[in-house]
Amino acid sequence: MIEVDAAVVGAGISGLVVAHRLKQTGHTVVCLDPNSPGGVISSRFEGGFLTERGPNSTLETCPEITKLIAELDLGSERIYASDRAKRRFILRRKRLYDLPMSPISFLSTGLFSMRAKARLALEPFIGKGKPGESLADFVKRRLGQEFLDYAINPFVAGVYAGNPHLLSVAAGFPKLYALERDYGGLIMGALRGARARKKRAEVAKDRARMLSFKRGMGALPERLGAMLGADWIEDRVISLARNPGGYRLQTAGEKALHARVLVLAVPAMTAANLLDDLDLDAANALREIHYPPVTSVALGFKREQVAHTLDGFGFLVPEKEKRMILGSLFSSGLFPGRAPEGHVLLTTFVGGTRQPALTDQTDEQVASMVCQELSEILGINGDPVYRSVTAWTHAIPQYDLQHLQRIERLSTLESDNPGMYLRANYRDGISVGDCIKAAEATASQIMGYLRDF
Ligand SMILES: Cc1cc2nc3c(=O)[nH]c(=O)nc-3n(C[C@H](O)[C@H](O)[C@H](O)COP(=O)(O)OP(=O)(O)OC[C@H]3O[C@@H](n4cnc5c(N)ncnc54)[C@H](O)[C@@H]3O)c2cc1C
Repeated sequence: MIEVDAAVVGAGISGLVVAHRLKQTGHTVVCLDPNSPGGVISSRFEGGFLTERGPNSTLETCPEITKLIAELDLGSERIYASDRAKRRFILRRKRLYDLPMSPISFLSTGLFSMRAKARLALEPFIGKGKPGESLADFVKRRLGQEFLDYAINPFVAGVYAGNPHLLSVAAGFPKLYALERDYGGLIMGALRGARARKKRAEVAKDRARMLSFKRGMGALPERLGAMLGADWIEDRVISLARNPGGYRLQTAGEKALHARVLVLAVPAMTAANLLDDLDLDAANALREIHYPPVTSVALGFKREQVAHTLDGFGFLVPEKEKRMILGSLFSSGLFPGRAPEGHVLLTTFVGGTRQPALTDQTDEQVASMVCQELSEILGINGDPVYRSVTAWTHAIPQYDLQHLQRIERLSTLESDNPGMYLRANYRDGISVGDCIKAAEATASQIMGYLRDF
């Protein structure tokens, strides 16, 4: 029987950061995962192209990310996105428009009608909404229908692979929600909230620097895994139970563990299966969290095959445009080393809540559909010289209208079971940065618990 202070189940970024921090502060810890460290973070170098199966970058929004990178000695590996990443495009009527990033460019853009621009001027005078509002209702009420259709709808497809009508503004976009709650509106909040952010040493998402690593995002979990050394065990946890003074875990590789602290850093459906015998009601709350499928298609072309200048972050597609893709990143323009000399790399996302059935196709079918779409939008000639397709059957948890109640149920589970912590991206934000920040906070809570044990 292996005896440790803490067993961390799942070595995605959430679990790795908790395990790393506990080990670093002198606790005995094991981190278990049947797959290599990183979870959905995984980079691949092949044929001169560096592709990402999951996240392509993250934003340096909080000091925890910067500190972790420095501590892991990854500072010289880190690369920031080029300035051109600030330029983002939205598809409207078969044309790519710059997403306006300043009041002046907003006034002159052809992306929004005069009516939509005038509607925005009313924003400071709109009253507060009712509790439990969807993101779509919130945006429509404050900013108008066109802003919802041509800014928020594509943004939500790009970040959550989700639908703003189904997502809760309070659960999924707490900072946006707080601007209305605390300052009475978004424009007032954006102006006055800057001071509060500065106090917390945080950077707004629209101004934070976007980063990756020379060898791709995978460099981060790879280094965390290496730091864990023998405390990282390649095995699947198949059952758990409460034991006097902690928890007993059983793995598929027939290992038995006893841990004073149990951290479940696995996707919600896996946590549900492990918790069925302990608390069926909480397990069912976890099971209800929906993860739509997403297929990520990385395609390499010779530069001369693509007519578009690709001088930006990429483009997003509003649902109203009735296309078969959610959006595309101009990956080789963002970070160096993503494509061989004279070539470009584009990463396109398909499916999500919008069109889940499109992910049922074979790799060939989905890649050829993406090629067809890209050739119409970016002016591409001929077949790609490189292709890599990754299908995620359960990609990103949706913070829907019942999400906050479910999370409350999970907090009750934790208080009923001292020493148990649920830490994964279905809580406190889905971005890599949010996962790091939340994992650091969980590690601090655990240290306090073990101190008083
Ligand atoms: C396609 C895609 C693109 C994304 N793009 C971005 C982006 O550009 N920027 C950004 O900031 N975020 C992005 N995200 C979101 C972000 O990457 C994730 O939210 C975050 O990495 C999730 O980390 P996690 O540790 O919570 O979960 P996961 O990465 O899902 O890790 C869970 C781990 O649990 C393990 N596990 C499962 N069952 C068991 C078991 N029984 N026993 C032990 N281990 C088990 C799994 O093998 C896995 O390693 C993207 C996500 C996806 C899917």
